Amino acid sequence: MTDHLLGVYNRAPITVARGQGVWLTDTQGRSWLDCVSGIATNALGHAHPALVAALTEQAGALWHVSNIFRIPGQEQLADKLAAASFADTVFFTNSGSESVECALKMARKYHAVNGEDARIDVIGFAGSFHGRTYGAINAAGNPAYVEGFGPRLPGYIQLTLDDEAGLARHVARPTTAAVIVEPVQGEGGARALSGEWLQHLRALCTHHGVLLIHDEVQCGMGRTGKLFAHQWFEDAAPDIMALAKALGCGFPVGACLATKEASRGMAPGAHGSTFGGNPLAMAVGNAAFDVIASEATLAHARAMAQAFFTGLDALATRHPDVIHEVRGKGLLIGLKMACDNRAFMALARDHGLLVAGGGDNCVRLLPPLTITADEVTEAVSRLEATCLAARQ
Ligand code: PMP
Repeated sequence: MTDHLLGVYNRAPITVARGQGVWLTDTQGRSWLDCVSGIATNALGHAHPALVAALTEQAGALWHVSNIFRIPGQEQLADKLAAASFADTVFFTNSGSESVECALKMARKYHAVNGEDARIDVIGFAGSFHGRTYGAINAAGNPAYVEGFGPRLPGYIQLTLDDEAGLARHVARPTTAAVIVEPVQGEGGARALSGEWLQHLRALCTHHGVLLIHDEVQCGMGRTGKLFAHQWFEDAAPDIMALAKALGCGFPVGACLATKEASRGMAPGAHGSTFGGNPLAMAVGNAAFDVIASEATLAHARAMAQAFFTGLDALATRHPDVIHEVRGKGLLIGLKMACDNRAFMALARDHGLLVAGGGDNCVRLLPPLTITADEVTEAVSRLEATCLAARQ
């Protein structure tokens, strides 16, 4: 083991060699049922044949030309994303953080070109996560992400999700540029915001000329059983939306989507990326989109989510001293633990099941959308064995 990797990760002691579907195999030949999916990224499981074929074919044709040339794969995927959403324009990035940065810059630029330079403030919420770059850590509501990285950037305001009066007051201020929110908080612990709350925020932003940014990096691209999480609700669509993770199913692909109006300040030269949307990324992105956005995949994800919630609710009833609450939306599932979540994750690993941690002492289940009914049953049964072990 090397000492030369920067020690910012607590890594599980597993060296994965191969992945197939929902299964991972380590270098010793041991296999795990993977309900982490590279942190909600491998939405089609490991080694999906359509993605392998698309990447292999593109690898032999062209890797990279940069954004000073036309890239047909970008034009195709931008058309698909726009047709399937509120958006008119798409900017491709390599990660969730970059998509969020683009969204934040776009929001301020919009007001600047409208002659409203004073509109700089971005409102974010406690429990949210938007990435690890400077804009993203300042926009999110977790003080741990900014600790030691000061000074805090000016113009970022944190509210709690239940602070209705504070939200109304801040959105109404003439210095507010945008509000950024995850329709389903992921890292914060699988917390799904209600339709009423999202609709209220939408109406408030519209009324005061404030841009609404949805961070669907984790909850988007089919994770909740709709292509985008906010599409569960009428009249909740944002002006700008950050995507990544499942957009590339494991290949680095991100995107910032926006209405024509919200993106009107982003003229040539206002923003850029060397790698964003390169031909390899777009080959995978297009192939992934075609499968994820199909009604068959989304309906399957909804059915598997229902099966999971049925099994998990029963499990929580049988083991209230281990699982306090089952929550989330679709296949972004959180178990709020009555015991220590980290200890539970290690025990689950001993039972051949990989799960992710989350804020608020949660364990998250983020399986591929393609998980089968038998695999859901297997996952719940491994969780049951883990609960029994946790009680000893
Ligand atoms: N936003 C959300 C909602 C996320 O869950 C994440 C990653 N967990 C990010 C942004 C940052 O994405 P990345 O790590 O690709 O920069």
